[in-house]
Amino acid sequence: MLRAVPTPASEQRPRRSFPEMVAAIYEDPRVGHESRELLLAVAYAVDLAKREPDVSPLQVARRKLGVEPGRRARYDRLVADDAPRYKPPHDVEAQSGYCDAPRLRPYQPRPYTPREKPSLPAAIPLRPLPPTIVHVDPGYTPPRDWRTEDGVCGATAHLRVIEKAPRTGWVTAHWFCRRHQVHADRVTEQLRAHNEQAPEPVPNTGGLLPCYFKADWARVYQHYRPQWTPPHYGLSADDWPVFDDATPRPTRHSRLRVLSGASHDLPEAQ
Ligand SMILES: [Zn+2]
Repeated sequence: MLRAVPTPASEQRPRRSFPEMVAAIYEDPRVGHESRELLLAVAYAVDLAKREPDVSPLQVARRKLGVEPGRRARYDRLVADDAPRYKPPHDVEAQSGYCDAPRLRPYQPRPYTPREKPSLPAAIPLRPLPPTIVHVDPGYTPPRDWRTEDGVCGATAHLRVIEKAPRTGWVTAHWFCRRHQVHADRVTEQLRAHNEQAPEPVPNTGGLLPCYFKADWARVYQHYRPQWTPPHYGLSADDWPVFDDATPRPTRHSRLRVLSGASHDLPEAQ
């Protein structure tokens, strides 16, 4: 049976009321719209369980979040997405990129010469078009224009060399085309020692449920994401090292206890 029990006094932090908890979730810059939906549902269910002791908070949250197309419980996917882990950038998992190696021959732009067709009538001058507006997803970076970058090959590349950051263990992909195979081998060799010494990557996604609620989250995450293993840096996103000093860390707060260590607190997967 899931039961909300008071946070122990040893927590040294003042407990938050339900409205304060909701406000903290809304103000947390790490919380995206889907995580917010999950955290608010669990906060509501934990608050409900204070007045109705027989209610199991995670079951209530799961019911409230409903089902998605395909009859999968929305809660199951949101919890699986909140599993703390390192998510590499898109280009690391891409099939191809643009060659980073120095150009073999310098780029020489050729001026455009309009085709001459004397038989056609003279073109009618049109009014100037408005400036182009390009709509892109947040976080989109345009592909590099190798012509403006001095001496970069820029050809479509399929050889990928991974570089791991020495402090965070986060990976960056360097791409090389087939003509730069030798260059790619040299870079691989240069990075080998660095990559071997790099630490396990610091998680960069998930881990928000443990920031707000106390429970055996490792078991819950394992249930909804079977391949998942707990990161070395801890489950809570509050505990992960931050190397970027420009990003302010959200203030820590008390956590509500959700589970009391019972055995059948995980709903059956659908
Ligand atoms: Zn190249």
